[in-house]
Amino acid sequence: MNFITLVNYIKNLQTVDKVIITNLYLLSEKSLKTVIALSSLIALALYPIFSYSIVLWSIALVSLSVFRLRESFEFKNNYQKHTLAVWYKRFVISAFMTAVLFTVLGCVYIHYVDAYYQLFIVTVLVGLASGATTSLSADIRVAIVYNGLIIVPLLVTILILDIPLHYVLAILIIIYFITQVMTLLTSYTQEIRIKELEEEKTLLHNLFKEAPLGIFSYDKDLNIIDCNKQLNSLFDSDRETIIGLNLNHLPDRRPISTMKNALIYGQQSYVGPYTSIGGKDYWIESKAFPFTNKVNNSIEGIGLIEDKTKEHNALEELEYLTQHDVLTGLLNRRGFKNNMEKLINSSSHKELFSLLFYMDLNQFKGINDSLGHTVGDEVLLSVSERLIYSLGHECNISRIGGDEFIIVVPYVSHQEDIALTKADMFSEKIQNIFIDPFIIESLHLHVKSSIGIILIEPNYTNIEEIIRHADITMYQAKKANSNISYYNEDLDRKQKELFDLQHDLAYAIEKNQLDMFFQPIVTIKEDKLFSAEALIRWEHPVKGLLSPIDFIPLAIKAGMLSQITWWVLDTVCNHIVQWKKENIWQLEYISINVNAQQLVEKDFARKFLKKLKENGLDTSDIMIEITERSLIDSFDTTQDIINMLRKEGVKCAVDDFGIGYSSLSYLKRLSFNTLKIDRAFVQDIESNPKELLLVSTILDIGRQFNYRIVIEGIEDQKQKELLLGLDGELLYQGFYFSKPLHAETFSKKFLKEV
Ligand code: C2E
Ligand code: MG
Ligand code: MG
Repeated sequence: MNFITLVNYIKNLQTVDKVIITNLYLLSEKSLKTVIALSSLIALALYPIFSYSIVLWSIALVSLSVFRLRESFEFKNNYQKHTLAVWYKRFVISAFMTAVLFTVLGCVYIHYVDAYYQLFIVTVLVGLASGATTSLSADIRVAIVYNGLIIVPLLVTILILDIPLHYVLAILIIIYFITQVMTLLTSYTQEIRIKELEEEKTLLHNLFKEAPLGIFSYDKDLNIIDCNKQLNSLFDSDRETIIGLNLNHLPDRRPISTMKNALIYGQQSYVGPYTSIGGKDYWIESKAFPFTNKVNNSIEGIGLIEDKTKEHNALEELEYLTQHDVLTGLLNRRGFKNNMEKLINSSSHKELFSLLFYMDLNQFKGINDSLGHTVGDEVLLSVSERLIYSLGHECNISRIGGDEFIIVVPYVSHQEDIALTKADMFSEKIQNIFIDPFIIESLHLHVKSSIGIILIEPNYTNIEEIIRHADITMYQAKKANSNISYYNEDLDRKQKELFDLQHDLAYAIEKNQLDMFFQPIVTIKEDKLFSAEALIRWEHPVKGLLSPIDFIPLAIKAGMLSQITWWVLDTVCNHIVQWKKENIWQLEYISINVNAQQLVEKDFARKFLKKLKENGLDTSDIMIEITERSLIDSFDTTQDIINMLRKEGVKCAVDDFGIGYSSLSYLKRLSFNTLKIDRAFVQDIESNPKELLLVSTILDIGRQFNYRIVIEGIEDQKQKELLLGLDGELLYQGFYFSKPLHAETFSKKFLKEV
């Protein structure tokens, strides 16, 4: 401790510290008695010189000392009488008064005695000061001031006095005073240091005792020497059993090698499970390190064990939650991926086939929509329970989303054919869980599933591909209504091709690859040209001319249909304008195909009408064909737009009518003016009289609503005649009259100058 810190320490010393005040009072008792004796002795010695005056001085000093002794007695027996601060003040004032009385001796009386007595007085006062240093040492400030009050005036007096060697005496007294102060400071510093060490020791002891760590020391033979309270609970045993216990005799030896190795190699640690003597399971983090016992110079070890069970359990819980589905408790998508990673990285995967089943519930959306999500959830829960029950634990079952489950059966065989047989076996097991209806809230629900099966080949590591294949296969099963489907590469290739095509389609417009064909619509009685339908084509640079059936669904999926429709409208408008200019326009209208969903696109009607206006066309020049199927899906949202377009004079037709099973009430509400009967009805009318009857019925209905009717797909004379027999007012569109033709060919062939 340096001087500055010491000074700070003294400054911060609390004057009301009870220990200091007690020590001041107690230690001063003896010296007060000495003072009484000494003052009497001095009075006796100096009486011949000063007679009553010195007696009075002595009486004053003795009285003061008696008062101080009484004070000390009071403090001991009745210290509540004053506050600590008052006790302190009383002590300090009376002590300083004692010093002042002594100073009178050294400053006043000393002048009237000879050199012999002078030396006597100096000796007495120095001795007194020295005694006071000890008795007042409890408070360094009081001790120094007390000393100073006696020594400094004495020093000044000695310098003035004319006695032999008085300079030497003065120097000696200065040295003495400095030594006194230094001694006081040193002993004080040591006291502080001892106090600090004691505090440190207490702190360490408390830490050792109360730390939330199990702490123990052990000797080189692994016998426990000492331990704290926490270790008792971690070992699940009492201190008596633990002290002296050899670590090798603990029932769970997993962390023991750490303790052993620490003695040889230095600090070691162990993190992991641990079972206590009492059989309790913990998760611990432990450290062990060596230290040299100075007493017997041997190497010993210190072990620290921290109970991390709660944290570990919380982490495990979190890990569980992130990997499992809340509803069913099965693995979720993340858990599934983790699991797959483990599988492909395992050594067994290098040689064995595994199986993956991608299962989706059919019409689950219907259950959710019509019966509510609670019932839907119950179904999912029952499915997962049945899966677990029937497949057991050799399979990993995951629910990767909505109604989609993945079942992985790892390492089924080395041989492909056996693996395939097992796949059949498992798929049968999976399908069997759907035999019995699911009884939920007294409803008997018959649920079916579609399953895509993938054989995971040994060493195959592309998880994404496995899932992709499984997904395609499952959809294949769904599409084919076949419950199960095995992955095959053709299917995958087709899917990839479609993906590429979708990609190419994005550039088809800007690369000018789209083209417009027209197919005439004519009267059935006279084959007189009435109108035409605009049908799009795509001149693909590699695949050649593509039919809309091949790419319109892709455009819908990719969100590009809108762009295509506006291109079609622009192109058709341009042709009409051109034909009008050439004076060969003689059609009632040209129809274009628009998907019902597109009608609800913002501002469709306004944009549509604006385009016609910009091109100087009549609203009746273009008819919009909307398939019955797309209408059913968005009837409510499209109704107003269709009616609005109709009001503006735009004609609208229901395309492919008859196969979407729309109800008549729908038709009534929509102001269409044309029905296009789907080709499917015409195909078999020659061989199947029932079909003809069906067409006849549809025609009756159409007439009731005042629809103009166009029959699609007439391919031969016979079909045409049969239909003509039903209704002479019909229009038709079919290969029999003409296939769709390129715009130029169409105009050359059918559009004559009017
Ligand atoms: P759709 O609107 O029903 O068009 C009639 C389809 O029947 C045309 O097929 C036409 O070539 C075909 N067809 C006409 N007569 C006969 C026949 O006698 N026998 C046979 N076998 N087929 C006949 P295409 O051009 O392949 O178009 C197929 C479908 O693609 C269209 O059916 C329409 O729904 C859609 N589509 C065509 N162009 C567009 C378009 O620009 N936009 C939209 N959204 N869809 C379009
Ligand atoms: Mg059409
Ligand atoms: Mg059609």
